[in-house]
Amino acid sequence: MNKLKFAPHKTSAMLVTRKLRHDTPHLTMGGIDIGMSKQMKLLGLTIDENLTFNTHVANVCSKAVGIYKQLSRAARVSWGLHPEVIRSIYTAVVEPIVLYAASAWAPASNKLGVRSKLNSVQRSFAQKMCRAYRTVSLNSALVLAGILPLDLRIQEAASLYEARRGVCHPALAGGEIERVASALQMPHPAERGAIELRHLVDEEQYRANCDFDVRIFTDGSKIEGKVGAALSIWTGATETKTRKLALPSYCTVYQAELLALCEATREALKRRETSCAIYSDSMAALLTVVNPEALHPLAVESRDAIYRSSIQNKSVSLFWIKAHAGLEGNERADSLAKEAALKSKRKPDYDMYPVSFVKRFIRMDTLDEWNRRYSTGHTASTTKLFFPSAVEAYRTVRKLSITKELTQALTGHGGFSEYLTRFKCKDNPACACDPSVAENVSHLLLDCPIHGQDRFYVEQHTGLKMEAGNLEILISSKKYRDIFANYVIKIVRHVNNRNS
Ligand SMILES: [Zn+2]
Repeated sequence: MNKLKFAPHKTSAMLVTRKLRHDTPHLTMGGIDIGMSKQMKLLGLTIDENLTFNTHVANVCSKAVGIYKQLSRAARVSWGLHPEVIRSIYTAVVEPIVLYAASAWAPASNKLGVRSKLNSVQRSFAQKMCRAYRTVSLNSALVLAGILPLDLRIQEAASLYEARRGVCHPALAGGEIERVASALQMPHPAERGAIELRHLVDEEQYRANCDFDVRIFTDGSKIEGKVGAALSIWTGATETKTRKLALPSYCTVYQAELLALCEATREALKRRETSCAIYSDSMAALLTVVNPEALHPLAVESRDAIYRSSIQNKSVSLFWIKAHAGLEGNERADSLAKEAALKSKRKPDYDMYPVSFVKRFIRMDTLDEWNRRYSTGHTASTTKLFFPSAVEAYRTVRKLSITKELTQALTGHGGFSEYLTRFKCKDNPACACDPSVAENVSHLLLDCPIHGQDRFYVEQHTGLKMEAGNLEILISSKKYRDIFANYVIKIVRHVNNRNS
């Protein structure tokens, strides 16, 4: 016979207080003591009694280090996993682990202790991504790997969370951010009738689907950086009414299309006619409207209007029509929307900032801060010869195919006499060309007579003189990048052989 044994479930409480002096309460439940604990785990977030989140950071970092250890068995400088694979694993697995619940503990990431923990985790991944030597500084490794500092990513995630909750960003000057509708604003599930969306690809299909009392064509447009939307309303063979809607320039076309659809459903609800068709050429906006789970405020309102029309025994049908298929109504809506975008001077009909707009500002803040750290930091002096700005580097680096030789040159950490002497692998930092000159990246690329012929070749083919001020252009410009990279790699190989 099997016996079942039950372990008494351990229950404990935690006291969170700002007070330095306090009494610890004695809690009992059903006569059993409830012990006090120093930390607890709630939905995957470790909360400690002083809200330092040190334990949480330690936990996520050790998880990330675990992944790193497994990866490093399969990724060495000269063989193994491709850096792009490591990057994918980093962005898809490691970063999300660390960023989990970032909005709750983001303030902790400003603390030096927490930051250095995050840095050491990130450094190891970055170093593998650009196949750099282990001595490479965090600044160099991040720039060459093209990843943003983890603590800044944490701040970013927290700011984005705040933005989604509608907390204003300073760049918006008090403007309101578009927030998803709350589940409470949604109709009761029983009232969420399925809304059908039909596709019409040509005039013939349209002719078969135009037997309605009212037909409303909608369109949204972004032109010369300006945004507008419009409705063209038809009864029978004539256009009987038009509406132009203005939106501020920061709005997206998607918002404009949704606004037009929403206005069309309001119009359908208002009118006496019993059958109404709404046509739009924006599949994205239509799919948002018909998806009962979509929480975009304009979509929620549209569905509500369609539902209320149906209660009044009016039918509202939605159609997707192919853009520029020569349908008169669609062409009208299109040109009206363009007019609304270009000519409208009145108060916008809808002025919510899209979250994507705020996201751009948040990313700009991150890049600024990263650049400040990079350019004021004492490390990465060789990397700065090629990439004086971290922001520019972030744009360029993904387009380069980084090899271990290129990384050696871009970091200065490689088989160069000066580096080898610094790390006590060689006694003499001098170059083979001249005992009084140190062999480092800038000497090898710019001055060393041994590589004069290759240098001349590059100068001939790029029209640029090989000097310190031109290194940034040579590596960033699409035109010169490959020829310059080949030159660099050839020299690094040569010097590595010489010093090995
Ligand atoms: Zn030399």
